[in-house]
Amino acid sequence: MTLQTESLEKTADTETQTNESGAFSKGRYAGIDDGEYWKNWKWQVRHAVRSIDMVQQVLGITFDPKEREELQRTVEKFPISITPYYLSLIDTEDYRNDPIFRQAFPSPAELIVENYELSDPLAEDKDSPCECITHRYPDRVLFLVSNTCAMYCRHCTRKRKVGDKDSIPDREKILEGIAYIRENTQIRDVLLSGGDPFMLSDESLDWILTELTAIPHVEVIRIGTRVPVVLPFRITNQLVDILKKHKPIWINTQFNHPKEMTPSAQAAVAKLVDAGIPLGNQSVLLARINDCPVIMKELVHQLVKNRIRPYYLYQCDLSEGISHFRTPIAKGIEIMESLIGHTSGFAVPRYVVDAPGGGGKIPVSPNYLLTWSVNKVVLRNYEGIICTYQEPAVYDRIICDQNCDACKLQLNIRNADESKVVGVAKLLADYDDTTTLIPENNERLERREDETN
Ligand SMILES: *Cc1c(COP(=O)(O)O)cnc(C)c1O
Repeated sequence: MTLQTESLEKTADTETQTNESGAFSKGRYAGIDDGEYWKNWKWQVRHAVRSIDMVQQVLGITFDPKEREELQRTVEKFPISITPYYLSLIDTEDYRNDPIFRQAFPSPAELIVENYELSDPLAEDKDSPCECITHRYPDRVLFLVSNTCAMYCRHCTRKRKVGDKDSIPDREKILEGIAYIRENTQIRDVLLSGGDPFMLSDESLDWILTELTAIPHVEVIRIGTRVPVVLPFRITNQLVDILKKHKPIWINTQFNHPKEMTPSAQAAVAKLVDAGIPLGNQSVLLARINDCPVIMKELVHQLVKNRIRPYYLYQCDLSEGISHFRTPIAKGIEIMESLIGHTSGFAVPRYVVDAPGGGGKIPVSPNYLLTWSVNKVVLRNYEGIICTYQEPAVYDRIICDQNCDACKLQLNIRNADESKVVGVAKLLADYDDTTTLIPENNERLERREDETN
């Protein structure tokens, strides 16, 4: 049995299955927002809206037959699922411009596939030693433990997998992932993602966390979840108790618009933070949703007020069917320009482009370093003031030969002799004689080789 069906079946016995159309015929959930059902996350999951017709009914809107037909084709390719809670945040007067509607409701534009788009743009499936794991960076792995979400984000980078019956990680596959992590001692940080790990039952989650906690070299566990945004009632006391039991757990969530920071979301976040769990936020820059410096500043202020640290602002990936969400990178730089210096440093996320092809996250920022000489560096600040920084006249250069015992710095690195320098950092290392990184198939150098032959 899969973990997902396990968790959903467990919920089914508490209440008899309600006929969908009957349950919602009284307009926008009239009479059921008394807390008993509304704040029950299992009720929310069971009543997630999974068809265009249901959205029409609940929101009291009607699409014309042609649009209706296109929408139907869209959800056949990429399924729809919206929790009643998240749906209830939509402004029905202006739903087409509503940031909640635009994130949750399909658009026929999803059927457009640009020639540069890919189903797996980050090559997650290629850097995958076993089905549930993506091992990209040396010391940390992405562990996909669930393939469902309470709400299917239309801009999802993992659209190829989410909601797909063939991608459901079962117990065997999860055990494979755990075994991989156990065998690879350089892995110190495990990121649980999916789908949404909090869509698993408490028991399944507890089991996975217990297994990971038992691995000595795993120092931290991270959970990526949108539950605080789309299903805040999932953050129950029991869930928080489970999380508290295990190794340091960090949670990253995804608020994309200030409108999502409702009292229910705030309460869920407060529970986690009060339990000592650090919270970060990973926003996605989305056209016509949050591609505006004013909205972004409001969002980061809401986040820090609620003790959530803005972590990343993602440039939209090159996944298939999300071209209508993409902004130029220039928009992200413009937003960063409007934040850096203009608000608290810890309210500023790092803007990143996840490299197509699997190169990992690349930070992108406005330039602050204008020019420099041996004596002076010329910088500009957020106000446009250009200043100079006088370089030190005397600096005792440290030439590192990795012999920490002989070094005057009081550094006591564990496993220092095992540390290995890679990438561009290699060019800077004194103890490595690499002087150049040469891309494969450099024609000029290939010509040289030909001549010597
Ligand atoms: C984002 C990501 C990580 C974590 O990156 P951090 O910069 O440490 O947050 C790890 N593995 C993969 C495959 C990722 O996409």
